[in-house]
Amino acid sequence: MNKAKALLDLAKEIEECHECKKDTLGMAVPGEGNPDAKIAFIGEAPGKTEAETGRPFVGRSGKLLRSLIREVGLTEKEVYITSPVKRLPKKGTPTDKQITHGRKHLIKQLQVINPEIIVLLGSVAVRAILDEKLPVLKRHGEIVKKNGRNYFLTLHPAAAIRFVKFKKIIISDFAKLKPLTLSL
Ligand code: URA
Repeated sequence: MNKAKALLDLAKEIEECHECKKDTLGMAVPGEGNPDAKIAFIGEAPGKTEAETGRPFVGRSGKLLRSLIREVGLTEKEVYITSPVKRLPKKGTPTDKQITHGRKHLIKQLQVINPEIIVLLGSVAVRAILDEKLPVLKRHGEIVKKNGRNYFLTLHPAAAIRFVKFKKIIISDFAKLKPLTLSL
């Protein structure tokens, strides 16, 4: 299977999806990165800058995420970055319905990429992917194994921008990532 082609087809499906368009604004943001990524980063929903550009994590929290990725010795070219919700929710925060719908697209993308580690950035990503409410503040920095996959729990970079204590947590969590990919 050609993974790049399969991801392009899924991106097209996301762009044309009528359900994704409901109560949202701007461009679709399917995700970007290496189709063979060993690590995928999953956020929440696009913000304003993402909806204007069609690219994930290019606003303020995206700048932090991308710098954290580089600081641990990974490059943006070797990871995949996306979110469960594929368009900017009108209300800013995605509804349960938008998360439940968006995760269907995300799951298909992850089936293609098949990363060794899926980094869940914050509680929306945890709920969307693991289908359960794990307390991220207690379980951050941990790998959770489920259905043959490795999920690494950490905070959303937007939380780290708002509070210094959360920034310290996210920095120490990211420091654990690179060695994890080498040992898996
Ligand atoms: N925050 C997210 O969770 N996802 C994006 O794509 C951008 C900001």
